[in-house]
Amino acid sequence: MMPSRRDFLKIAGISTLSLVAPSIISKVWAKEKSTIVGGKFLTAKRWGMAIDASKCPVGCVDCITACHGDHNVPDISNPRHEVKWIWQEKFSAVFPNESHPYLRESLKKLKLPVLCNHCANPPCVRVCPTKSTFQRQDGIVMMDYHRCIGCRLCMAACPYGARSMNYREPRPFITKLNLDFPTRTKGVVEKCNFCEERLAIGLKPACVEACKNKALVFGDMENPQSEIRLLIEKRFNLRRRANLGTQPQIYYIV
Ligand code: SF4
Repeated sequence: MMPSRRDFLKIAGISTLSLVAPSIISKVWAKEKSTIVGGKFLTAKRWGMAIDASKCPVGCVDCITACHGDHNVPDISNPRHEVKWIWQEKFSAVFPNESHPYLRESLKKLKLPVLCNHCANPPCVRVCPTKSTFQRQDGIVMMDYHRCIGCRLCMAACPYGARSMNYREPRPFITKLNLDFPTRTKGVVEKCNFCEERLAIGLKPACVEACKNKALVFGDMENPQSEIRLLIEKRFNLRRRANLGTQPQIYYIV
């Protein structure tokens, strides 16, 4: 029997709802999360981070250890399968257009921390077909691991290689499980979340707290009096591949 016009409209309605519902839910959730003021929440109009290269000693990995420990990032040595939220790259790899043979020696030797840039105009969010990656009102680019179908479009869209795919079941590779943070599963993409779970209880990101040299400064980019704004106004800084229009929110002071 052919479906009636009424049946057809009902089915079309349900299908449309299933497509738009996740984005509506994520927007409502994002709004609620970012508008809770007072209490213990740390809030900002737009979170950003400055990294002072002059304070980053060669060989120090305290920020990586803290971040990966807190977030149950699996320690997989095979570079094809590795998962990373924050890692180090040579200056020449982070800023290929700023590199030249006469660069000062300290910069040539330097390895800079790199992570998701929480871009103000994030291409990864635009391409995600399930809205599993989305942007909060305070600028944090989030992942909902349960909605990720592992299509890797976000990885292809991100010009910074800031996302990792769990090609293997990650749990056996977690050295010390943090029961306060979820683990992920094989087939799911993950990345830095600017420690949104710590901001929610009044703490700064784990990498910022772990840095003994105070090389990482985290704060509200929209507040002209914030430490980060005063710092980047005073000191010369670079953003990674800013010419792409992604508006990265990690500022490197070099
Ligand atoms: Fe998305 Fe990559 Fe920008 Fe992070 S750095 S917001 S993953 S495009």
